[in-house]
Amino acid sequence: MIDRCNRLVALATEKEIDAIIVTSPINYQYFSGFTGSNAILLITKERRILYTDFRYTIQANIQTKGEFEVVEVSRLIGMDMIRDELKRIGARRVGFEDATITVRRFKTFETLEVTLVPFYNEMTEIRMYKSPYEIEQIIAAQNAADAAFKQLLGIIKPGMREVEVAVELEYLMKKNGADDKSFDTIVGSGENGALCHAVPGQRRLTYGDLVVLDFGARINGYCSDMTRTIAIGEPCDKLKEIYKIVLDAHFMALDALKPGITGGELDAIARDHIAAHGYGDCFGHSLGHGFGLEVHESPAAAKGNETILRPGMTITVEPGIYIEGLGGVRIEDCCIVTEDGYIDPVTAPKHLIIIE
Ligand code: ZN
Ligand code: ZN
Repeated sequence: MIDRCNRLVALATEKEIDAIIVTSPINYQYFSGFTGSNAILLITKERRILYTDFRYTIQANIQTKGEFEVVEVSRLIGMDMIRDELKRIGARRVGFEDATITVRRFKTFETLEVTLVPFYNEMTEIRMYKSPYEIEQIIAAQNAADAAFKQLLGIIKPGMREVEVAVELEYLMKKNGADDKSFDTIVGSGENGALCHAVPGQRRLTYGDLVVLDFGARINGYCSDMTRTIAIGEPCDKLKEIYKIVLDAHFMALDALKPGITGGELDAIARDHIAAHGYGDCFGHSLGHGFGLEVHESPAAAKGNETILRPGMTITVEPGIYIEGLGGVRIEDCCIVTEDGYIDPVTAPKHLIIIE
């Protein structure tokens, strides 16, 4: 965590910022290791302080491994101690998380008598580059999801309700080593597959359905994210056609994935292929997103995005086609960009699996 804090201080110094206040649970976890629900970090050149309340002081000392001074404060973390410390070091400009802070907390920050400088993007920038440790956790999470999917294929059958499929997947991910799911599992069967973020319901899997399964595991805070679309019995020609187009678009994007390409260029490869087959209007979301402590992080593989993908960044490749009243197809792998290409930890097959 010291490395991460040092990078933050270096970026702050470039902008003549004397101290950084970290307030969102994801960011204070990233910079300190602390996973409790109430904390503020104050990071300066000379000190790293974690303010939390009585419930979390022991946990904070364990999780920050002595890299932060843990200071006990009341549950509503007041600004007095932070103000005193900023005064002591003569801080004039202070970076804060402009994208996540509440209006109420911002009002308390205004009592600090310093110039508040938006600094959320810089934190995001640092988090984009995953360390070998983080990549290990992502791969372990994906392994749990893959194992769950393979076992699900022996269980899933016509007549099962979508919610049953979702709960099996989540149970199997945990049985295979996950701490938790990384987001609410999506199961969209038949016409529900056209809803990109279908909430699993009471619909029963029926012959002729395609079923979109989008799910992920979480290990040590890190998320995996994959989608497979399977068939219950032989699907109609139209569904087979869109499956083939999405699969080809997925492979074309993976073929192009390497450092140097922009998020927009990667998106366009899949999007142009789908549009060339007449389904451009049926692919309304972006090709992919970064992932890590959060399932959706920077960078984005989206129309016009100019972020250059670099080694250590994560990106999903998830083209889809959705037809109202008929169904949908999405195929997603979660990848990590390397020096000469990418690591794809997803091992589940991609040909259309037909469950009889
Ligand atoms: Zn997904
Ligand atoms: Zn995704």
